Amino acid sequence: MNILIMGGPGAGKGTMSARIVDQFQVNHISTGDIFRSEISGGTKLGLEAKAYIEQGLLVPDAITNHMVKHYLEQLKDPKNGFLLDGYPRTLDQAKAFDELSKGTDLEIDIVIAMEIPFDVLAGRISGRRLCKECGEIYHIVSHPSLKEGTCDKCGGLLYQRKDDTIESLQTRLKEYTAQTEPVLKFYEEKGIVTYINANQSMDDVWQDVKKALETK
Ligand code: AMP
Repeated sequence: MNILIMGGPGAGKGTMSARIVDQFQVNHISTGDIFRSEISGGTKLGLEAKAYIEQGLLVPDAITNHMVKHYLEQLKDPKNGFLLDGYPRTLDQAKAFDELSKGTDLEIDIVIAMEIPFDVLAGRISGRRLCKECGEIYHIVSHPSLKEGTCDKCGGLLYQRKDDTIESLQTRLKEYTAQTEPVLKFYEEKGIVTYINANQSMDDVWQDVKKALETK
């Protein structure tokens, strides 16, 4: 099964993605994670993407499309399908991916669209912390680590993403809405979008996501 998950910054997309990958054993393609790892690896792609990401802007489509194609060509276990996370994020990316996947086993089967009011997002995102070592996600209020600043799972250092600030969030939200509404419409016309209420506990959100995927 090929899944696309969509949701604004802080909608819980990262947490749901991890559960989907675990439960359905799909290959995870997160463009945000890939860019961050390319940046920390100091690669050419990382250098190109860095300035855009730090300003909360999207990396240009040509760079992003090329990168996704490259990663899809190297999937560890292609027959299990994949979870696209953070891509396609613009109508042009959706069209480019549609061209690339049409008639192949890369076509998207289901779009999970996580919906949440904007004021709830602001609180979620400014308290988000991530583990430097294993990527585990915490929140200083709703899901704190046992020891402040330290990951419960692996003891790694927790950090705040550079783009998890209110200013950056405003830019990202504005851009997210403008760019992704046409993407959702594009997939709605194909009849493959399932909307999920993301303003519930993570476990309740997960039950809804799991049900949507199991009944697909
Ligand atoms: P994310 O972790 O999905 O919030 O992505 C972090 C940042 O990476 C975004 O704010 C963008 O700058 C960049 N990025 C991730 N995915 C894409 C994409 N599909 N197209 C363009 N830029 C992206």
